[in-house]
Amino acid sequence: MGIIIKSDREIAVMRQAGRIVATILGILTKQVRPGMKTKELDIIASRESEKLGAKPSFKGYRGFPGNLCVSVNDEIVHGIPGERVLSEGDIVSLDFGAIFDGFQGDAAVTIGVGEISPEARQLLETTKAALKAGIAAAYSGARLGDISAAIQNCAESKGYSVVREYTGHGIGREMHEEPQIPNFGQPRIGSVLRKGMTLALEPMVNIGDWRTRLGSNRWTVFTADGSLSAHFEHTIVITEAEPEVLTIL
Ligand code: MG
Repeated sequence: MGIIIKSDREIAVMRQAGRIVATILGILTKQVRPGMKTKELDIIASRESEKLGAKPSFKGYRGFPGNLCVSVNDEIVHGIPGERVLSEGDIVSLDFGAIFDGFQGDAAVTIGVGEISPEARQLLETTKAALKAGIAAAYSGARLGDISAAIQNCAESKGYSVVREYTGHGIGREMHEEPQIPNFGQPRIGSVLRKGMTLALEPMVNIGDWRTRLGSNRWTVFTADGSLSAHFEHTIVITEAEPEVLTIL
């Protein structure tokens, strides 16, 4: 299949999908509070998607039961919203994708529930900075490895590790298109980035070791050592100048 270059018209639709994802993540972020069940976030994601004429893309994807992924503390990604109650001091990753007019947007944020520890706050800040570094490396003519290395260097410079088994990805009509975008690697290798490529960059950063463990529900991915993990993601498009972030308002 290869990497699909999008036309300006297709990118315009992806911009709309991206804004919808950003809008809903913004609403969800404001709702997070101690004492709430994670399934309340799932209900909000479903309701707000319907209002905006979009469809949550994770629901039913390979049988995933939720409208979004809610991953708490040592859960890295793919947490299923449910009866779990959020507590003061938790960190919670909200990963949401939506399809609008045939095109996908995908983004994630990790936020604190009430007051969080300085250690947790630094993890969040660094993971966000790693995503920013990856975006800054994603210009036309650079290579995929430049993105991977930028993300890895940012996370590891603070003593953290990057998850290896799960990666960023191309995105468009499908949620997962080519290429895979690892959050670790060497600069100046891999595919050359071209105008019109649409990519979801998504560093997953652990305080401890990079290794993971799959939970008994066969979805939720945990850090193997039980350390905290954070996840930030944006959908971007490669341009002739700086990359454009699509999943923002
Ligand atoms: Mg993604």
